[in-house]
Amino acid sequence: MNEIRRGGRRSDHRQALEQEAPFDLLIIGGGASGAGAALDAVTRGLKVALLERDDLSAGTSSRSTKLIHGGVRYLEKAVKRLDRTQFALVRDALHERAVLLRNAPHLCHALPLVTPLYATLQVPYIMTGLKMYDWLAGRTNLHPSRFVNAREAKRRFPQLKAAGLRGGVIYYDGQFDDARMNVAIALSAAERGAVIVTHAEVTALHHEGGRVAGVTVLDRLSGERVEVGARAVVNATGPYADSVRRLDDPEAEPMLSASSGIHIVLDGRFAPPDTGLLIPQTEDGRVLFLLPWLGSTLIGTTDQPAPVVDDPEASEQEIEYILRHLERYFDVPVTRGDVKAAWSGLRPLVSDPTASDTARLSRDHVVHVSDSGLVTIAGGKWTTYRRMATDTVDAAITAGRLGDVPRPATVDLKLVGAERLDPDGVAALQARGFEADVADYLHHAYGDRAELVAELATDGLGARLAADHPYLEAEVVYAQRHELAVSAADVLYRRTRLGFLDEAATAAAMPRVEALLES
Ligand SMILES: Cc1cc2nc3c(=O)[nH]c(=O)nc-3n(C[C@H](O)[C@H](O)[C@H](O)COP(=O)(O)OP(=O)(O)OC[C@H]3O[C@@H](n4cnc5c(N)ncnc54)[C@H](O)[C@@H]3O)c2cc1C
Repeated sequence: MNEIRRGGRRSDHRQALEQEAPFDLLIIGGGASGAGAALDAVTRGLKVALLERDDLSAGTSSRSTKLIHGGVRYLEKAVKRLDRTQFALVRDALHERAVLLRNAPHLCHALPLVTPLYATLQVPYIMTGLKMYDWLAGRTNLHPSRFVNAREAKRRFPQLKAAGLRGGVIYYDGQFDDARMNVAIALSAAERGAVIVTHAEVTALHHEGGRVAGVTVLDRLSGERVEVGARAVVNATGPYADSVRRLDDPEAEPMLSASSGIHIVLDGRFAPPDTGLLIPQTEDGRVLFLLPWLGSTLIGTTDQPAPVVDDPEASEQEIEYILRHLERYFDVPVTRGDVKAAWSGLRPLVSDPTASDTARLSRDHVVHVSDSGLVTIAGGKWTTYRRMATDTVDAAITAGRLGDVPRPATVDLKLVGAERLDPDGVAALQARGFEADVADYLHHAYGDRAELVAELATDGLGARLAADHPYLEAEVVYAQRHELAVSAADVLYRRTRLGFLDEAATAAAMPRVEALLES
């Protein structure tokens, strides 16, 4: 395996891109799929570069529901269609849930979710399904699901509408911080030798003898164009996968369609701090999650066919849809004025010409290899990023004729922040004078690296970026020096998560973050 040798400063990676080319494997896209493939490949001893047009997880990977799950909804499909493939998908994802919880325990935790039941007939149906979920998880099950009466359901989730409530089922899944996980995976790859250049867009593919052999990359900060050679090229650009496939073959048939899934964020009083809610049946036959997240309440998601655009926005119609469901299930009034942030993520769905709506298309991932050897990874979900990575790199090894390459070593690989995690880390930070919410946040966001952020904070950068949030000025400087961040948006949206939680506070913090980045 490569030695640990690269930190998290973008300029170092940019320099290395030219100095170290050509690469065994070049990955386009720095979301969960691309970062996962980079980590998988460096653990096999491959020389890897990853190019991301914007920032790590700037696409769908920072806009998920933040659940590490087998997919209760996919289980329902498996049962209804008696589909063994769907069962296997759920079981594999539950296995990956356990791997993530083990390898990045600072960024993930088990979360109980209440499913409220308003019709007695629903009880056996939902209870049987969730017991099957427990069974599929096997030894990795977090806690057994159980039925609770209406009083207990209301005690666990006090905002629930009491009228007609028959009871609830409590089950467990994992919850995580998606963008910070993405950064941890990318940095884990970088520390093992991967070159990871953000704000670097692939604008052309090169071919030699009909085989893909490299790319042209536009450095979006300097405006320079650089040619980078590679024996194998992976296209991990999520909803943009077809546009990169057309750089390879202008005649390539589209493979994907996109649908928008939005979330809204309310403040923390709309959910208890340690329990989520699963609304099992929306008006269009979906499920809706309502989750405590980073001190706020996260609610989503929707499923609307959508064009592929940068920074997709949540429409008023989609926001209205979520508020309408809350009204049905909540005793507490929620209005449009309570929405502190709303955002959309694009699901790249593998096209199936026979399906009539996007909800029916498969969520499973597809690895496609073009005639020239371009490997495209599309679909899938965050939870299974590690398995998707292995399938992708396996395909790239064959397509690029990379020879005899060992299997990946990621199943027990502790991600950055988890290697020397101190179980008493929160108390240690509090003992150093950090307020309880800040200590808790720093420990969970940075794991064993929280100490480095704390040092910057005690060195004059201890002020908060926003009054009601635990984010500190120190994180801006830390993100720039150690986490490949460049712009204020990188810091506010994907190193801290303020941009996803509180739009007004983000706008207010922007000038200070810009000033810190320039100082
Ligand atoms: C609403 C929603 C909720 C979800 N919730 C969950 C959940 O709770 N749990 C779960 O397990 N999964 C969830 N998922 C699925 C999961 O988020 C996605 O499967 C995953 O994030 C996809 O990652 P990706 O890397 O394939 O794509 P992306 O994250 O979109 O990454 C693609 C990257 O490629 C870059 N790029 C594009 N073109 C170029 C180019 N020419 N050059 C360089 N870079 C380029 C983009 O900037 C982008 O950063 C959810 C998905 C959605 C939409």
